[in-house]
Amino acid sequence: MTPIAAPSPNFNARVRPPDMLVLHYTGMPTGEAALARLCDPAAKVSAHYLVEEDGRVFALVPEARRAWHAGVSFWGGETDVNGASIGVEIVNPGHDWGYRDFPHAQIAAVIALIDDIRDRWTIPDARILGHSDVAPARKIDPGERFPWKALAKAGHGLWVEPPPAPGPPLTLGDDGPGVALLRSALAGFGYGLATAGPFDDALALTVAAFQRHFAPHRFDGVADGETRARLMAILRLAAA
Ligand SMILES: [Zn+2]
Repeated sequence: MTPIAAPSPNFNARVRPPDMLVLHYTGMPTGEAALARLCDPAAKVSAHYLVEEDGRVFALVPEARRAWHAGVSFWGGETDVNGASIGVEIVNPGHDWGYRDFPHAQIAAVIALIDDIRDRWTIPDARILGHSDVAPARKIDPGERFPWKALAKAGHGLWVEPPPAPGPPLTLGDDGPGVALLRSALAGFGYGLATAGPFDDALALTVAAFQRHFAPHRFDGVADGETRARLMAILRLAAA
């Protein structure tokens, strides 16, 4: 697959090779508007690729350069997520403009693009993430409709479906060993999160980010039994 050249001036130098992949939705009314913004020097934002709903792929920034897609972000101790990652913008109006399913042709193109990217760079499955994973307090893209399960089936990223897990939900205001375990599991996977303290807003936003990616039966930030079971199973898979 050869992407269509659409060079953006919005990049600078990397200091090391990328070992993460960050997926976004564009969150604008049209793909054309998103592409124009990602190439506008005044906007100071970019990505390495943009994937249209019909499957066309545009190449904006060379992979060896640092594109500006993640903003203030964190994963597994890394604060320069732009410097460590390749960013892919996937056209979808997003929650502000009419969030809708990602068409099959678009997801097929995303999978083919990731195939190619991972041929060139060493990117572990556990570091194929959404923007919401690296900035849970600010971002919810690519959102709960993004087919992470299909992506994992195609060989990219983590997915688990553990057996049903009983247990009371943990939610805002809760405290104790269950909350401490939840915090250390999320932080151990990579989320930027204090490892101590009661169930606060920051924890709820992080749980919601985990749910949008790995447990989309709910994405309200309430850590029910299924969410916690999936988190533990993901941690085991990431460590394997
Ligand atoms: Zn984003």
